[in-house]
Amino acid sequence: VFGLRIVLRVESDRQHQQRNRAVHLPPMDPAQRTKDLKKVMLAAAQTPAAHAGGVSATIQQMLLEPDLHQQLGLLPSTPVEWYLERRQQYRYPKSARHRRRYLDYHLDPMPRVAVLMDGYENTDHVQCYPEGWCQDMEHFRPETVAGPIAALKRLAVMILAGGAKLRHLKRPLIAFSGLPFGNRLLLTEEDRTILWQAFGTPVFERYLGFGNETLAKECEAHDGLHLNLRNGIFQTAFDGRHQELILTSLDHLSHPVLRLATGLAAQITFEPCRCGQSGPRLMKLERIPREDYCVVPPPVVIPALAGRAAAMAYAGRG
Ligand SMILES: [Zn+2]
Repeated sequence: VFGLRIVLRVESDRQHQQRNRAVHLPPMDPAQRTKDLKKVMLAAAQTPAAHAGGVSATIQQMLLEPDLHQQLGLLPSTPVEWYLERRQQYRYPKSARHRRRYLDYHLDPMPRVAVLMDGYENTDHVQCYPEGWCQDMEHFRPETVAGPIAALKRLAVMILAGGAKLRHLKRPLIAFSGLPFGNRLLLTEEDRTILWQAFGTPVFERYLGFGNETLAKECEAHDGLHLNLRNGIFQTAFDGRHQELILTSLDHLSHPVLRLATGLAAQITFEPCRCGQSGPRLMKLERIPREDYCVVPPPVVIPALAGRAAAMAYAGRG
């Protein structure tokens, strides 16, 4: 009656593959991606910025063309500084201003995650603490912490000084970088060392868009950031000195912008990663030095078809 029962769980190759796939980025559906791009282009065409810049009619014309991705490439890029100074002009009123997101964790099983910012749904496994460490967080017994790099470092300093105690940490941290955090702040080797000393776990960088959507994330191989093709279209443009990352988020409809010039130099590689995923990765992401980066207003596009007269008029040549 009290005998020991040993249950062997035999997992087939196929099951193993499926389980592995589940923790990686979901496969991309090209038709869905085109649909999402269409939605973003339509929203962008209806912003005051597009009207003021004379591109609204051009974008609407482009929506009638068969290859939307190719059409997108014809549009001028918008420097991120330009966009930030005129954020209200990019407001698309038909989309909610703020949206809470579900935080996903890249490894199974999902741990309890304390998030050092707002913007995520609170669930059994995820709790937001925008003010940083507190008694509530200690009671939540987080197994890992996610947050902007600066917030993680502040918590690290508190832990090292003995001012914060998180006894259940055992899973890798998630460090948010990207557009909502001044964009140019990327995780450095020095940051990784400090975080390792304080938390005792490795850290994975996640590059977010303005709506906190995940645009790219690091994997166990720590060799570049895997692009999330469901959330964005990633291009590069050579400015004579740097290969700049040009980004169109498919999941930030409240303030849509097409071809945002990020001010970051990057390479996109299609070489398979050591982690087993085959999708493209963002490599050598680094800031373009301020002195090399000049903000040029996005040029007015002279549209090919019906919008031409309007654009000529806008340019004073109508
Ligand atoms: Zn990888």
